[in-house]
Amino acid sequence: MSLPIGQAAIEQKGWWPSYRFILLRRCSQLAVVGLFLLGPLTGIWVLKGNLSASMLLDTIPLTDPLVWLQTLLAGKAFELTLGLGALLVAGFYWLVGGRVFCSWVCPINPITDSASWLRRKLSLNRSGTLSRALRYWMLGIVLVVPMLTGTLAWELVNPVSLAMRGALYGMGAGWLLITAVFAFDLLMVRRGWCGHLCPLGAFYALLGKFSPLRINASQRECCNDCMDCYAVCPEPQVIKPALKGEKLGNGSIILAPECTNCGRCIDVCGESVFEFSTRFANKAERQS
Ligand code: SF4
Ligand code: SF4
Ligand code: SF4
Repeated sequence: MSLPIGQAAIEQKGWWPSYRFILLRRCSQLAVVGLFLLGPLTGIWVLKGNLSASMLLDTIPLTDPLVWLQTLLAGKAFELTLGLGALLVAGFYWLVGGRVFCSWVCPINPITDSASWLRRKLSLNRSGTLSRALRYWMLGIVLVVPMLTGTLAWELVNPVSLAMRGALYGMGAGWLLITAVFAFDLLMVRRGWCGHLCPLGAFYALLGKFSPLRINASQRECCNDCMDCYAVCPEPQVIKPALKGEKLGNGSIILAPECTNCGRCIDVCGESVFEFSTRFANKAERQS
């Protein structure tokens, strides 16, 4: 009988190495909301604003680069502070992997992760099919609309902005949209929103396309095909080229920009196949 997903990892590595990254990510996501709430609740202002635009320690501007792009495309006046904030945020996510935003910061991630977890628990195996490229078309639309309308229309319905504003100022009708995302992922398409449709995730994937920080299937020869990493990965299509591409001459680094650097594959692999690494390790491996 096959073991439940992740059980082999717990038996072989112990509890903490099997849940390390998911717990650290939840701490990180809570810490971001906590830092925004700290000011209004205690008067100690570390982060002022929200995920779209904020000020760190009253001196360092941080701007969502996609919001900033929409502002420019809508024909709004260039603001140096916002531009500098966008550059800082974009530079950070370029360095650590664009979709690190998705797995370590975004308040929607725990919601879509929960839908995926519940899907597995309830054995809801049927899933509608959507192209994972749709999100890039969605991103195109998000960028064209400000040019046509002069507004940041997407930000009015962006679940990420709504969830963060909801956490800070009260949710209101935003709950409806967030519940719809959860229901869509649970009942209609596996990893439907984040893995197929979200334009912000697509934007961060493009931003992190050449990021140095990558997941490395460095011990891929130890893989026993238990499939646990595929089951928990929000973007399972990114794993195979690195894990099984040896015969094709593929390096062991996961280079697909859709990988969120969430580390969940590292957690659940009982054979310790994966680790965090840099994209340059591929080159070193080929030379050795
Ligand atoms: S894909 Fe979109 S909603 Fe999902 S975690 Fe990334 S930014 Fe958030
Ligand atoms: S890398 Fe292989 S052994 Fe490890 S979780 Fe994935 S399928 Fe299982
Ligand atoms: S390959 Fe690993 S790090 Fe990348 S998205 Fe999948 S589980 Fe997360």
